[in-house]
Order: sequence, then structure tokens, then C-alpha cells
Amino acid sequence: MIIKMKENATVSQIEHVKNIIKNRNCTLEEIKDNAITLIINDSNEFLEKDYFEKLDGVKEVCYAKKTFYLASREYKKEDTIIKVKNVLFGEGHFVVIAGPCSIESPEQMNDITKEVKKYGASVLRGGAYKPRTSPYSFQGLGENGLRMLISAGIENDMPVISEITSETMIDEYKDVDIIQVGARNMQNFSLLKALSKIDKPILLKRGLSATIEEWLLSAEYILSGGNPNVILCERGIRTFEPYTRNTLDLSSVLVVKQLSHLPVIVDPSHSAGHWQMVEGLSLAAASVGADGLMIEVHNNPSLALSDGNQSLKIDRFKDTMDKIKKITNILGKELS
Ligand code: PEP
Ligand code: MN
Repeated sequence: MIIKMKENATVSQIEHVKNIIKNRNCTLEEIKDNAITLIINDSNEFLEKDYFEKLDGVKEVCYAKKTFYLASREYKKEDTIIKVKNVLFGEGHFVVIAGPCSIESPEQMNDITKEVKKYGASVLRGGAYKPRTSPYSFQGLGENGLRMLISAGIENDMPVISEITSETMIDEYKDVDIIQVGARNMQNFSLLKALSKIDKPILLKRGLSATIEEWLLSAEYILSGGNPNVILCERGIRTFEPYTRNTLDLSSVLVVKQLSHLPVIVDPSHSAGHWQMVEGLSLAAASVGADGLMIEVHNNPSLALSDGNQSLKIDRFKDTMDKIKKITNILGKELS
């Protein structure tokens, strides 16, 4: 059950409601926004909606057991804007995240970073812990790789993003500006709960076979634990079509925009699996109203240790960015 207090509820009114809940041995999370929201894990259906609605200071009470609430437009009408250093995700801003699939060496990171920044990317990506389908594929450089990413970000004055695969690694990510939860971990609930307790922005990718509701419920795990900084990322879903690596569900951007206030970006690289399709999908994603893109770029894709086939060469990234800028101009969006 979720109890939303009035914006002008007094401290003693809030404490009164909290004490009743605590006395009933239910767990309680408190979300401090413009107004206080209390989230109660009342799996016993112990608490009665009518009773709580009548308490002083209470604005509304609802059950949100099966569906999301904090991620919804009912909870927050206006779009959420998430600030990462000087980069803004959300309403009216368009962010391009670019970089290699995997961090491979300091030289590779420095080369790519300078180029993607020059052509308009504002966040640098790079994977250090790679969730690979085969245990024999390159698994990433781990902590050393994270250090290479962070140094390239600092040297080139760009915030950085990298994927985490376990809650035991959170300390290693203290200098990473955005933590990515990959498609395979979208429903790793212990990871989501741990990330809900930090205040770093989280980029939550849609699972390979996740419905939009399941994706938003995963976001809800992070929000309900107290971290309001969630950016969603559509990266394609598994369908019966084998030509593309995944089928890019661009309609999900429209659905998410309708249902949720959270920013949503698109990853055309993992959707397509082929570099030849990345530009077209990027332009389509920008046109449909995404708040940004995450594009894999490599200085020498044929030698990339992962996902070379879907990585753009630098000159192709430049061409794609020139076209993206035209679309963001038409839409009146600012390239953040
Ligand atoms: C990635 O971004 O490197 C990645 C592994 O993506 P996904 O989780 O979408 O497959
Ligand atoms: Mn990749």
C-alpha cells in the first residue's frame, strides 16, 4: 500500500501515520519528494485503505501491489529531469552516450573518447564486466578497465557510464557517474534493491523478454528504495526474427512516455547487431521522442574484443551525429 501525504502535512501528522504502521509490524519506506510518500509492505493485507485515508495529513492511499506507482504519471505528472554533472536527461534535452562495447586499453579509450566528444556525445560508455553469452568470450578488464574509463572521462571532461553485474561491486563504481543495469539483470532484484540505496543515477535497460510493465516494475524497485534517479533504456526485445540481433520496439518509447515521467533513451546498437542499421534506428528513435541514444563506437571495429559488428567507426558516428542534430533541431530539443 502507498500513502501519499499532503504537501503541507505537519511533522507530527507524518509521525502519527508512521507510528501506526510500525506498530502493525509492517515494513516502511519513506520517499521524500515535494511531499512525503510512505510505502508499506502489507502483504498480510493488514492495513485498511479507508482508515488511513481519514487520518489527518493524508492525501491519498492506493494499492500498487501488481503495478508500478512511483514510476507512473499518476505519482508525478511532469517529466523527471536527471542531472549528471552538466548533462541533463529528460524533457527537452537529448543526450548521446557513446563509446566502445568493452574497455580494451587506455589508448583505445583515449582515442575513442576524444572523437565521440568532438562530434557531440556527452557521456562516455565502456564495459568492464561483460555479461557474455559464452564463458569463452572476452569477459572484460574488470576493475582495471573501470579505471581506464574513469581516467578517459576525467581527461576529456565527460561523465562515464558502465554496467554493473552484482551488488557486491558497488564500491568499485564510486567514480562512475551512471551505473548501467544490463538487459540480463533487469530482474536481478537483489541488485536493484542495493542500487535503490545509493543516489547515483541508474540506467535500466529493458530485459530481453520483458514487457513494458515488468520493466517499469524493475524501475519501481529502485525508486521505492529511495533512489529517484532512473533512466530507462530500450535496447530491443527477442522476437521470432533472427536477422536482427533483437527487434527494436520503438513503440515502447511512446508507451513509457505516456505511463511514466522517467527519461527513456534507445540503444540502437544492441537492437540491430549490425552497424549498417545503427544510423537509421538512431534517427527513428530521436524522431519518436526518445530522450537520447546509447551508441557503440570503436576506432577499429574489426579488432574490437566484443560487438565489433554493431560498432560504428568514428567517421560513421560523425555522419550519424550530423543527422541527429538536424532532427533534434526540428523537434526543438537541446543536445545536452
Ligand atoms: C551493453 O550495453 O554493453 C550490453 C551488454 O547491453 P544489453 O544489456 O542491452 O545487452
Ligand atoms: Mn555491446
